[in-house]
Amino acid sequence: MFADARHLIVALCGFLAACGSNASSQQPSATLSTSNVDSNSAATGELRILPVLCGRDNYAYLIWREPSRTAAVVDPSAYPCVSAALAGEKLTLGAILATHHHSDHVGGIPQLLRDSQDIPVFAGAADVEKIPEASRPVEDGEVIVAAGVELKAIGVPGHTRGSTAFLVEDAVFTGDTLFAGGCGRLFESRDPRIMHDSLNEKLAKLPPETRLFSGHEYAANNARFALEVEPDNAAARALAERAAAASARSEPTPSTTLAEERMHNPFLRVTEPALKRRYGTEDPIEVFGRLRADKDKFR
Ligand SMILES: [Zn+2]
Repeated sequence: MFADARHLIVALCGFLAACGSNASSQQPSATLSTSNVDSNSAATGELRILPVLCGRDNYAYLIWREPSRTAAVVDPSAYPCVSAALAGEKLTLGAILATHHHSDHVGGIPQLLRDSQDIPVFAGAADVEKIPEASRPVEDGEVIVAAGVELKAIGVPGHTRGSTAFLVEDAVFTGDTLFAGGCGRLFESRDPRIMHDSLNEKLAKLPPETRLFSGHEYAANNARFALEVEPDNAAARALAERAAAASARSEPTPSTTLAEERMHNPFLRVTEPALKRRYGTEDPIEVFGRLRADKDKFR
């Protein structure tokens, strides 16, 4: 189960199976309109978050506040999975948020916009030019309202220059910047200090109870790497067991909290003596860079 079932609808196996296909035309599509959407007004009802598995390991997320039936979607990598999820919950799409410009996070946007004209597409300002449909560039620290849900944008460059996390209440959507047990590759900001700061100076400093919703199901592989670099880390072993158990049930690995990430995620543990000893340096930036380089080669 996810950390807080009150705030989350767990995607059921049948639902995930229905959403696991990338087939483009046979899926039922949601009835989408924007007639009742006021995306500038923040609502106050209970926050709901629905993870939507798209393809093999991509996660999009629907976010809305009850009793509203208008949702925002984070990182719609494909159209069929998202439109089926909207239809399943009888939701109307009111806004799109992109954590970064990679196609496996924005691929579904053009077709969603054909169903829902004139809804805003939010993305980090430095990534906007690579997302043709993006209409609302956001800056670090900016507070936005998407489909009635107020979120704070957190600039987290490293994976891409414009990578942006979105925070609402105790949930943060991190795209390919922070995963359960790991972090994204340094594709555009190759200086490890930049990603280190995004992770350790920004995301890791959010309240420890903050729940992590990332862009991919990578927990099992990440936990194996965490155990490779810290073989005695009991928290990393626990993550590996949770990921394996969820996989056996064809369910997403339960969301983790930032407190848990600080215990099992080596990229948030660069000041730990065991990791400094492993890499023979006291410099946390160097530890981070060496960890990332080792993870790039890890299979
Ligand atoms: Zn990416």
